[in-house]
Amino acid sequence: MNAVEVVTTGRVAVITLDVPGERVNTLSMAVATELLAAIDGAGTDAGIDAIVLVSGKADGFIAGADVKELAAMQTRPADAGRFRDLAAEGQRMMNRVAALPKPLVVGIHGACLGGGLELALAARYRIASDAASTKLGLPEVQLGLIPGAGGCQRLPRLVGLRAALDMILVGRSLGAGRARGIGLVDEVIPAAIVRDVAVKAAARLAEGWRPPARRSTGALSLLLDRNPLGRAVVLALAGRTVRARTGGHYPAPAAALAAIRTGLRHGMADGLAREAELFGALAAGDVSRHLIGLFLANNALKKDPGVPLDAGLARRVDRLGIVGAGFMGASIAGLAALQAGSDVRLRDTDPQRVARGVRTARGVLDEALKRQRLDRWEHHRRVALLSGTTDDSGFASRDLVIEAVFEDLGVKRTVIADLERATNAGCVIASNTSTLPIARLQEGAVRPQRIVGMHFFSPVERMPLLEVIRGPETTDGTAATAVRFGQRLGKTVILVRDAPGFWVNRILAPYLNEAGWLLDEGVPIERIDRAMTRFGFPVGPMALLDEVGLDVAGKASQVLHEALGDRLAPAPAVARLLAAGRLGRKSSRGFYTYRDGRRRGVDRAVYEVAGVKGRNGLDERAIQRRLLLALLNEAARALSEGVVASARDGDVGAVFGFGFPPFLGGPLRHIDDLGAGAVAAELERLAAAYGPRFAPAEALRAAGPGLDR
Ligand code: NAD
Repeated sequence: MNAVEVVTTGRVAVITLDVPGERVNTLSMAVATELLAAIDGAGTDAGIDAIVLVSGKADGFIAGADVKELAAMQTRPADAGRFRDLAAEGQRMMNRVAALPKPLVVGIHGACLGGGLELALAARYRIASDAASTKLGLPEVQLGLIPGAGGCQRLPRLVGLRAALDMILVGRSLGAGRARGIGLVDEVIPAAIVRDVAVKAAARLAEGWRPPARRSTGALSLLLDRNPLGRAVVLALAGRTVRARTGGHYPAPAAALAAIRTGLRHGMADGLAREAELFGALAAGDVSRHLIGLFLANNALKKDPGVPLDAGLARRVDRLGIVGAGFMGASIAGLAALQAGSDVRLRDTDPQRVARGVRTARGVLDEALKRQRLDRWEHHRRVALLSGTTDDSGFASRDLVIEAVFEDLGVKRTVIADLERATNAGCVIASNTSTLPIARLQEGAVRPQRIVGMHFFSPVERMPLLEVIRGPETTDGTAATAVRFGQRLGKTVILVRDAPGFWVNRILAPYLNEAGWLLDEGVPIERIDRAMTRFGFPVGPMALLDEVGLDVAGKASQVLHEALGDRLAPAPAVARLLAAGRLGRKSSRGFYTYRDGRRRGVDRAVYEVAGVKGRNGLDERAIQRRLLLALLNEAARALSEGVVASARDGDVGAVFGFGFPPFLGGPLRHIDDLGAGAVAAELERLAAAYGPRFAPAEALRAAGPGLDR
């Protein structure tokens, strides 16, 4: 490979890293070896006094280690020793860099993450561009790992313990300005001059120049970062936060703390040894394998969503139309202006609703301004992209129109018929329906091939998943247009079949139903929710029903019950609540009470409405097994029916759609881990105890060792 180029200017060697054929630089073993050889070569060259390292990529420094290489190692039987040796090898490389007799200056423009930042930390001087794309961080914990090439040692030494923990324990990355503020970089300058300034700094350092101190040494820093007692306090507090946040499911943050603690107490050498040891154990473990699997699946899905994405096929959406400026429509409008910079025309039935919708959409932009994701000028420009109407005006030029009107077949059909008249022949018409078959919306349409489902999840700005649903007539071009636009909105997009409940609601329904059956048996609401949050779900099923709305969930549940039979019959307790007018958060009354928009305790009155006592002390594990197995069973069944094209898509959909615990890798991965046969056997036991709704899916009985991997 030829990833490295060295040119000499005066007595400074400038090393440019540019991994051929890749969009970003990553440190595979081969690239790291080549880079180190170049640094070593310059280090021993008598004609060279100083070294500069920059990237040849237009917008990226080094994005980290090569995750694919690591993942390939993880498919072999777990062996912590091999991964420990890998980390130790990385550490040796960084140690060599840190011990160079000549100054090494890095010029950072774009992402400088993981191993890339560990390398920069080993350098003498760091210069960063002020571009928005410049990000510095150690995101390893997000992949279930810790920085293993010295990052847990060098970062706290450079920026202080508190700032280092802030970055390492959650994998947060910083822009150049903040990085300068904590002393992580020495200079921040425009991208165009990074290389030149780096060369000058290198030459000056070689002449003995001593750069000014990097960070302030205020009283707090002296107290908490510099003395052992202060550091012990900081570490103990961080340990407590980590335990609370990970719920015992994610071992990496605690491991990072341990590696940092050892280094601060016993010195660099011991710290590095511990860091390598812990990296090895984590990399050989299931959590990291699952998180890396999801990361790679998500990346693969971007390139290969199941429909070709070439420009010839997908229509570029510069002008978006939205019909129905309600809860969903207005948020989608705001997101489109924010993320895609599309011109957005919102239509509703009366001017007040239009105005309210435009206001909500604008709110999405205001929030981005507040969070400094947009500057004033960009905010202004994007607000001007939003317009509203009560008629067809402006719709003739739309590339894509998303309808988000009431969930009613008749209303949606009328709207679609209107749109077919008002838009051009190439315009794609998407429905945000959550329950109606796309086939029914295509019936009677003039251009059914241009109709597709785009199922967003609420809250639209925050939920990362979008399901794109192909009806029987939907062409590749139409599906590709919807997928590409979804990706531009920043969504992870899965392509799903036009089957009842699509993917997410389909597999969620038996899980939520089962929670209803537990309530029917008198299991207390908080007991059910606590069992599932402890299991690793972000919220419990009852709280989730409150969020979604009991009416919305009830309707989806009814559709699935009708389509798929008694296996999906909802529990009577939940129906009684709905009949009593409890809609969940939006009516401030559901399973929980709400005040000022915030969830308070369980509403005791619910038990009476539901007609149960709420005193069943069923143990936590039994609750978890029933809910989880109901979900796994349906996931296996839906996969075998081709609702999603692969287990990869199904797992990504479940994790990003409703927060299936990421550390398990997704429901289908979890079935593989447990063994399909074992899952089927447990379902048989549950079926004997609770009824035929638990009868195992044929796919599980027949699967043998795995599903479709
Ligand atoms: P909503 O009631 O908040 O908004 C619907 C809007 O459509 C209203 O403003 C209404 O005036 C407008 N409308 C109705 N008929 C119209 C017509 N003929 N022309 C123009 N405008 C018309 O509803 P919502 O919650 O935003 O749901 C909209 C769609 O999104 C539904 O299909 C729903 O199933 C789907 N959806 C909702 C959620 C959710 O969590 N609420 C999630 C995913 C999908």
